[in-house]
Amino acid sequence: MNAPFWDPPPERYPGRLPEKADVMVIGGGIAGVSLLSHLERRRIDAVLVERSHLASGASGRNAGFLLAGVAANYAQAVRTYGRDKAREVWELTNENHDRMIEAARGQEIGYRRLGSVTMPLDDEERQQLVESAELLQEDGFQARWDGAGLVNPRDGEVDPSALVAALARQARPGAIREGVNVVDLESRRSGVLVTAGESQCEAGVVVLATNAYTPQLVPSVKIVANRAQMMATAPQSKRIAEMPTYSHFGYHYWRQLASGEVLIGGWRDTSMNTELTYDAEPTTEIQDRLDGAAAELGATGQVTHRWAGIMGFTESGLPMAGPVDGMPNVYICAGFTGHGMGFAFMTAKGVAEQI
Ligand SMILES: Cc1cc2nc3c(=O)[nH]c(=O)nc-3n(C[C@H](O)[C@H](O)[C@H](O)COP(=O)(O)OP(=O)(O)OC[C@H]3O[C@@H](n4cnc5c(N)ncnc54)[C@H](O)[C@@H]3O)c2cc1C
Repeated sequence: MNAPFWDPPPERYPGRLPEKADVMVIGGGIAGVSLLSHLERRRIDAVLVERSHLASGASGRNAGFLLAGVAANYAQAVRTYGRDKAREVWELTNENHDRMIEAARGQEIGYRRLGSVTMPLDDEERQQLVESAELLQEDGFQARWDGAGLVNPRDGEVDPSALVAALARQARPGAIREGVNVVDLESRRSGVLVTAGESQCEAGVVVLATNAYTPQLVPSVKIVANRAQMMATAPQSKRIAEMPTYSHFGYHYWRQLASGEVLIGGWRDTSMNTELTYDAEPTTEIQDRLDGAAAELGATGQVTHRWAGIMGFTESGLPMAGPVDGMPNVYICAGFTGHGMGFAFMTAKGVAEQI
């Protein structure tokens, strides 16, 4: 069994590499379609190429949590980045949530704003979450400690594949081209020569929205592939989670849809080395852990889906956004470290502005 729970976008955009493009976006996940949306709003002529189909990467395989911040809790983030930077990151991700949902304008994307809760696994995490609630409140955010977990009432959830499809639907005809696998980039002073199969394109600017896969095209980019796995059960009437739930420093997560299906993901922490891979296959080792978690949570429905996706991690835990060193006219919008749904729309806006 290896199929994501989310249906792929229903539209297909078969296409070829154009001979010329002002801006070429490579990658058709949430980052790529967000870039296209921001570039088109600025009346910049852009083409997006995707080697498979839209949302075939992590964007169609994730849990669909729209969370404020990074995987680390606020107290940890303040220690890592400093208070101002942590506040800036939480503000950016809150804005990402609002603007991205606004951009999908009334299309069916499974959006609900139920909030989220982070449940501590042990005393250390509990202490950090209590501290996070205090720091967040001091910094003007709506979070609270409710005695059992850190609640963020602004957070939400989506069907991530439907969201990618909704943003893509707004692109101008011909702007999205699926089935184009870029194999080489030659950065020049006046532009970038892009190669896919036998075809070549002279692009003014290229943006890498290839997340985990970026080093396959540009080996100097320091993004590390990390596999994450999930499972989903058939609907059940018994509620096991009132809102998207996060735990164990972000390694464990689960949610229950309005229609009753339970989605559980993570447990990468139990086998970190095997998950450093580009192989998007679920494994027995992690899936057994997810089954165990399902039983503990009271998710009794039959398992209907098991799947995996590849995330792109940066050293800092923050996305890379801007020009690529040593490659004139090549930009990057990638490295979302497991939080692309929370970051990509606003990160793409920043990159579009730089272009
Ligand atoms: C199981 C799982 C659960 C997750 N849960 C969450 C969550 O709840 N909330 C959250 O915010 N984030 C979550 N994430 C992370 C999130 O999915 C990613 O951060 C986000 O989808 C990254 O989007 P992207 O567009 O940058 O990359 P991707 O969606 O991976 O898209 C990159 C695209 O580039 C294409 N591509 C690559 N190389 C080439 C090439 N040479 N030529 C043409 N096309 C190419 C690929 O085919 C792919 O479609 C999760 C990830 C996984 C795997």
